[in-house]
Amino acid sequence: MGNPPRYGGLDAFKVIAALLVVAIHTSPLTTYSPDGDFLLTRSLARVAVPFFFMVTGQFVLGKVLQGRRPFSALWRQVKKILLLYLVAVVLYLPVGLYAGHYQGLSPLSALRLLLFDGTFYHLWYFPACATGLLLVYLLGRVLRGRGLLAVTGLLYLIGLFGDSYYGLTAALPPLAAAYEAGFQVFSYTRNGLFMAPLFLLLGARLGSRPPAGRPAVNGLGLLLSLVLMTGEAFTLRHFALQRHDSMYLLLPVVMVFLYRLLLAWSPQAPAFCRPVSTWVYILHPAMIVVIRGAAEAVGLTAVLVDNSLVHYLAVCLLSFLAAAVIAWALARLRPPRPTRGRAWIQLDQDALAHNVSALRSLLPPGCQLMPAVKANAYGHGALPIARALAAQGISAFCVACLEEGIQLRKGGIRGEILILGYTPPSQVPLLRRYKLTQTAVDFSHAVQLSQAGKSLPVHLAVDTGMHRLGEPCHHLEEIVQIFTMKHLRVEGIFTHLCTADSPSPADRAYVQRQVQAFQQLLEELKNRGIPLPKVHLQASHGLLNYPDISGDYARVGIALYGLLSTQQDWNAAAPPLRPVLSLHARVAAVKSLPAGAGAGYGLAFVAQRPTQVAVLTIGYGDGLPRSLTGGEVLLGGRRAPIIGRICMDQTLVDVTDLPAVQPGDEAILIGSAGQETITAYDLARQTDTITNEILSQLGTRLERILS
Ligand SMILES: *Cc1c(COP(=O)(O)O)cnc(C)c1O
Repeated sequence: MGNPPRYGGLDAFKVIAALLVVAIHTSPLTTYSPDGDFLLTRSLARVAVPFFFMVTGQFVLGKVLQGRRPFSALWRQVKKILLLYLVAVVLYLPVGLYAGHYQGLSPLSALRLLLFDGTFYHLWYFPACATGLLLVYLLGRVLRGRGLLAVTGLLYLIGLFGDSYYGLTAALPPLAAAYEAGFQVFSYTRNGLFMAPLFLLLGARLGSRPPAGRPAVNGLGLLLSLVLMTGEAFTLRHFALQRHDSMYLLLPVVMVFLYRLLLAWSPQAPAFCRPVSTWVYILHPAMIVVIRGAAEAVGLTAVLVDNSLVHYLAVCLLSFLAAAVIAWALARLRPPRPTRGRAWIQLDQDALAHNVSALRSLLPPGCQLMPAVKANAYGHGALPIARALAAQGISAFCVACLEEGIQLRKGGIRGEILILGYTPPSQVPLLRRYKLTQTAVDFSHAVQLSQAGKSLPVHLAVDTGMHRLGEPCHHLEEIVQIFTMKHLRVEGIFTHLCTADSPSPADRAYVQRQVQAFQQLLEELKNRGIPLPKVHLQASHGLLNYPDISGDYARVGIALYGLLSTQQDWNAAAPPLRPVLSLHARVAAVKSLPAGAGAGYGLAFVAQRPTQVAVLTIGYGDGLPRSLTGGEVLLGGRRAPIIGRICMDQTLVDVTDLPAVQPGDEAILIGSAGQETITAYDLARQTDTITNEILSQLGTRLERILS
């Protein structure tokens, strides 16, 4: 497991960027040199806002554009940005009113203000960010790679000619007229339509790759492009071409070099850099007002306001103080969640991706995976697993029951979700509300579902020999009738094999009988003129052992998590799978027992020698089987035996031979450390069950961590 990348360079530059934004709004050098001030605030400081866009692009847009996160992840962030905007709007409403910003405002221009310009001069950033994110996302659905870059670049260019190159535009009256029409809607082109998309995309792209280019090259590139951009800015000023001065032709080039440098730089930046820079951004105009007011009140205007540098420093100081207080207060309101605190499950996303592609390579043509994420994704955590799968292009899932389906939908999972088990007909409204597909478990269930009187998508279960759920496959008349039921839309038909995991000749013959019975039924339906819906009969063992059986979906469960039910692999041609889950806990305490002392409930363990006992922070309340006595755990990469009876919240292990073990140490119950590995197979064997049961028992008290 690699360390997560650090973003110290980005965090540190956030503080610098915040200082630059304050400079833009206070012009610190005017007292000394107007040209110097132009250089600082109209040229160099113009990196600040694009930088903030790029960071947002990297963390909010990057994975969504790559399809590794669902749209809902982006939408959550957009909502956060809009919430912040709302807070800022409310905060600045009195200031804006006092300054007379909104005099004679029609409802339409108020809306315009809210959508594009923001209600105070610096707040345009938030709607621009939200608009830009959504725009790039939408463009990204139709365009890829260079095409997307080209379109956002073109938008930037359009913006440029409404910003610092407007003097050229003005020379072409028809073009100028088009821009003027635009300016009726937004006051500037430095907004979410023209400026934000390019930088958001650049951030998303640069941030998703390892830092490129050697630092010396990037440094030189930055220096050179900054010099050129400054030349550009002064030239434009000289010819009085600038309508506004936010956008330069060379700014994107500067930003690429700067961002690459920052990604490669990893200083230790304190965690508060992130929220503080946001709040400095929001608060500094208010601090400007406060300082002016205060200076007037105490008669210090000559120093605190008229000297631009002192004024700047005072605004920075006050803004950072206020921001730090807010960031501190918010952190207190929302204390961080404990992570890897007591007992947890670690999910190896790479292993999951590996298993998905391994299983996909087995699928017959036209067949898709329909992962079984029932029972909390076999204990792994339904949402983290389903989201990771969705990001890999999986668009159909199956679960056991209504609640599991609703949980996925609430977690933002889209696509088809099939409920494999029984749902009472009284729940049809919920099935419809959450757009879930229900299994008709047999004829009478189908009748009841249809009688609920509302159109409902169903898959029909057929019993070909397992004798669990499904209408018996020889009941052709009933099955045909289900296809004609008024309110049912039969979108799928499936059966389940019950001996596909066994290599014995009798079991293999039974698989063939089930498959044949199913095929025969499908033939008969076709002969009756019924167009076949989606067909599926494979689960993990069937796919691995009989990859030739065709279908539209393969409902794989256990194999996706990198395991079989038992440690047998009679199809040697099947690709190797990698376990996704590891199970971890901590040492709560270490005790010394004299020989003869007992420990745990019933004193079931009795020390045969002076014994060191470590108490682990996990028990059967977390799903560890109580019958796992005689099992082992890993501590510091070495094995230690479980002793006594497993408790609800604790487990005792003998660490006499591991003297280095201390409270707080991490213990591994399933997983690898050093040369040692304990698998779910080991636990299943020791407790006389299958891996499916071991995993699906793992409880909700365990934290799930993706790595
Ligand atoms: C649980 C289940 C599956 C998945 O089974 P695995 O053996 O874990 O792949 C498939 N189909 C049905 C009907 C199931 O109940």
